[in-house]
Amino acid sequence: MTKPVTGGCLCGAVRYAYDGEIGAAGYCHCADCRKVSGSAFGVSVRVAAAGFSIVSGQPKSYTKSGDSGRPVTRFFCPDCGSPLYTLPPLHPEIVFIKAGSLDDASLVRPERQAWTRSRVHWAEIDPEITSYETSRI
Ligand SMILES: [Zn+2]
Ligand SMILES: [Zn+2]
Repeated sequence: MTKPVTGGCLCGAVRYAYDGEIGAAGYCHCADCRKVSGSAFGVSVRVAAAGFSIVSGQPKSYTKSGDSGRPVTRFFCPDCGSPLYTLPPLHPEIVFIKAGSLDDASLVRPERQAWTRSRVHWAEIDPEITSYETSRI
C-alpha cells in the first residue's frame, strides 16, 4: 500500500491528495510555463487522474492553447495565486501536479525536459537529461 501524497497552495486554502504511483517529473521551458510559474521553467509530476482529488478549497482554472497548439487547463488557488496542477483536456486520464506544490519535495524525480528551444540562459538544468526541442511525444 502506498502512502497518499498530499500538497496544496501557499495559503493553505486549496489542498489535494493523490493515491497511487507517482510518475516521473519533467521540466517545461515553454513560454506559457515561464509566465505561469513566474520563473525560468515549469516542473510538473505526472500522476493518474483516477487517484487525484481536491481535499479542500476550490481552485480556479484558466485554459489556453500552448505552443504545441493543444489546450492546457491550469488550476491555481483563487486566494494566493499558487499554481497547483494542469489538466491536458485531450488526455483526461492524466494530471500534471506542479512539483513545488507537493508537501514532500523529495518525491520529485525529473527525467526529462521539453521545449528546450524556448529555454532561457539564466537557469541551467542537467544537460544529460532526456531532452525534447518542442513538446514531448
Ligand atoms: Zn492559496
Ligand atoms: Zn510548458
